[in-house]
Amino acid sequence: MPHRLPVALIALIALTLLAGCAAPAPKPAPVAALTHAAAPATTPADDNLNAVSWTQNAVEHDLVYLQTYRDAQSRLLAALADPRWDALPGDDRVAPSAGLKPAVVLDIDETVLDNSPYQARLIRSGGEYNEADWAAWCKEQKARALPGAVAFTRFAQQHGIAVIYVSNRAKDLDAVTLANLRKDGFPVSGPEAFLGLGTYVPGCEQIGTEKSCRRQLISRHYRVLMQFGDQLGDFVTVAANTPAARRQDIQPYLGWIGTRWFVLPNPTYGSWEPALFNNDWTAPRGQRRRQKIAALRDQ
Ligand SMILES: [Mg+2]
Repeated sequence: MPHRLPVALIALIALTLLAGCAAPAPKPAPVAALTHAAAPATTPADDNLNAVSWTQNAVEHDLVYLQTYRDAQSRLLAALADPRWDALPGDDRVAPSAGLKPAVVLDIDETVLDNSPYQARLIRSGGEYNEADWAAWCKEQKARALPGAVAFTRFAQQHGIAVIYVSNRAKDLDAVTLANLRKDGFPVSGPEAFLGLGTYVPGCEQIGTEKSCRRQLISRHYRVLMQFGDQLGDFVTVAANTPAARRQDIQPYLGWIGTRWFVLPNPTYGSWEPALFNNDWTAPRGQRRRQKIAALRDQ
């Protein structure tokens, strides 16, 4: 925002001049005026600045992804060779896995594709997520591959393992999403490789954006060797989105983390965040921020 610099400079010069001219003791100013004059220039805090900066600029971010996908790759062939190995939770396994084709299931956003430029735009504009801007970003097809994801998915494909993407991108973003994945070098066998939000699953009623119905659909055709995601909902159904319930939901599957389920870091957005303010996105930004601060642990 360079256009703001001259204004700041002018203000600074004016303040310096004023301070320099205050030789005779000035008349005490009213309290209100003093409070106003003494208030430091405030910059609105942006909750997402550090998170997006880390995502884009910290090499540590890239290394976590690389480490996760490399570790998964080193385990994949053993999972393939074990006919009893399955990475779907019992509720989602509606057909026995024996004899089914092997697959790996991956979420897309912040799991294989990096959408941090969209978040960066929101920081610069001072805006908040909205569907229209998000769809426009998706249509640009500029999301880059996250480190390690292309190598892992190609490795899976080379070993006869289907690569299935389960995403909460809307169904009408199918074509642009698949094009973006292909541009980045991901294996995409065909439209059936993408199960977006609103995918019709006979006999299963999708609740909100939950992915359980789509996992059930996959369970009819595949033995799932591994799942990847940046959100709890990429793995289990989140019945009540509170911090305590989320921890409880994953409890039975902690033994699967790092072997069947691989979780990637997303500090920029996710259902963990509204869980801190009662899932009330209609609350003013300031109120949501206060609730997040109240949820911090300081010892
Ligand atoms: Mg995601």
